[in-house]
Amino acid sequence: SNVSYQQGLIMEAHCPLTMPISKQPLTDTYTADPKPFARGKFATVRRCKHKETGVEYAAKCIRKRRRAADVRHEIMHEMFVLKLSDSCQHIIHLHEVYETSSEVILVLEMAAGGELQRVLDDQEVIAETEASRVMRQILEGVAFLHQRGIAHLDIKPQNLLLTQAFPQCDVKLCDFGISRRITKGSEIREILGTPDYVSPEILQYEPISLATDMWSIGVLAYVLLSGHTPFGGETKQETFWNITSGIVEFPEELFGSVSNDAKDFIQRLLITEPSERMTAKESLHHSWIRMFCDPESPGIDVAKIGYTLKDESNAEVSVSAEVAE
Ligand code: ADP
Ligand code: MG
Repeated sequence: SNVSYQQGLIMEAHCPLTMPISKQPLTDTYTADPKPFARGKFATVRRCKHKETGVEYAAKCIRKRRRAADVRHEIMHEMFVLKLSDSCQHIIHLHEVYETSSEVILVLEMAAGGELQRVLDDQEVIAETEASRVMRQILEGVAFLHQRGIAHLDIKPQNLLLTQAFPQCDVKLCDFGISRRITKGSEIREILGTPDYVSPEILQYEPISLATDMWSIGVLAYVLLSGHTPFGGETKQETFWNITSGIVEFPEELFGSVSNDAKDFIQRLLITEPSERMTAKESLHHSWIRMFCDPESPGIDVAKIGYTLKDESNAEVSVSAEVAE
């Protein structure tokens, strides 16, 4: 079985990742809250409950047309990435898919603890043991994607969900709306992402790579430990200038009680040259990630994948996943 790609999007043709898409009304099977509990630019997310099992889910309803353009293929890509990530504990699980004339509805596992952003709003900074544990779980999700050649490209606290109230929770990645499959020879240059978390190569219109996510992970660690963004300016322009300057500072008033290991972790990610940043796998081996590691935890979650992929030129590329050591 094969998967093909166009501009970093997984395409539908012969895709083994396809799920049955139901044309029945969602409300035949679920009772859905009429009001969304969250909304993004093109999606609304509603709580719904399976009528038979009583299990709660989050229904992400995504409009198929945006500014008069048909973007169904982009939503299908989001579905494929979620399906591909079925076996990863740190990526939100896709349960079912529905389609109406105007929307695609992704019925997702409900992350009852909400966004990591809400924890930051409530408590400003997160203790190092917790921050390290949160980062390790995110890195496990990102390593899983990167092993399959997929860059998330929008890693930020709004797209990181908690299974329960913090801190007795697991962390899962969500929102693969702008994720892209990175292939050698196809250089994707797009302006994507969120100002504070965006990498220098995106701002310079240089090729996107898996390392683009690692920059955002460095920003995230900085934010969790200090309650401040490393490059935030008064205006978007100023923020972008700060990002491209290549200067990262750890002011004493914010980082006075933060360990050198944590700062070293951040410094090895917030590097302008993408190829010099730690990879997801290397990050998982950094002392700051390992030092708080629960010896009981299963460790790096990596599964073998067994299908062949096709790149833009239709050449077969076998994606062999690495096995966790
Ligand atoms: P968008 O592409 O519009 O940003 P997201 O997938 O990020 O869409 O969903 C928007 C918001 O909805 C998230 O930031 C989160 O607050 C909430 N959300 C999305 N999926 C879930 C889920 N499975 N469980 C709980 N909340 C969710
Ligand atoms: Mg989002």
